[in-house]
Amino acid sequence: MTMFWNQGQERSQNAGAAGEDHLSMIPTWSVVLAILVFAGIQYLFHGVMPHHKHEMLPMRLLMGYSWGTAFASYVLLVGYVSRDVKRRNMPGGLWMLIMVVMPGGIGAVVYFLLRQPLLTPCPHCSTELTSSVHFCPQCQFQLAPVCGRCFRGVQITDVYCAQCGHDLAEDHAPARLRAYSD
Ligand SMILES: [Zn+2]
Ligand SMILES: [Zn+2]
Repeated sequence: MTMFWNQGQERSQNAGAAGEDHLSMIPTWSVVLAILVFAGIQYLFHGVMPHHKHEMLPMRLLMGYSWGTAFASYVLLVGYVSRDVKRRNMPGGLWMLIMVVMPGGIGAVVYFLLRQPLLTPCPHCSTELTSSVHFCPQCQFQLAPVCGRCFRGVQITDVYCAQCGHDLAEDHAPARLRAYSD
């Protein structure tokens, strides 16, 4: 069981690293598309739109740059969501459609409000679990340290349970990390 626990800790550290590395979540196609969109909007502002006699060039440059940045960022965001939906078991096609169809980036706001928690496989039986569980519901694999009396979550450095005052040293290492007494 102690061995399982160590694996569990490694797993959560890996999950943490993956969660922080948002840049690797943006697929290449969306980076390329973002550059094309930015270039396209510059072309639209400077090449296609009619030039008036008294207009100011800095204003035109600024507008082209702002719109280009806004649209390019949204393309990157759509790319991010296209990968994010997969690791949350959400319908990818539907969310891509919502992201593209909803105007003014509202689709993205709705997505970040409604997205499901991240799923990670149980290290023991590969059941998809949310990060908040202490035990795998399928195989009883322990994913977080818990009190041996009340089975609420504790910090690995705690001496007493913060919820019931139980002396955690009494659990001894393997018993403390296994939640259910046999
Ligand atoms: Zn399991
Ligand atoms: Zn307790």
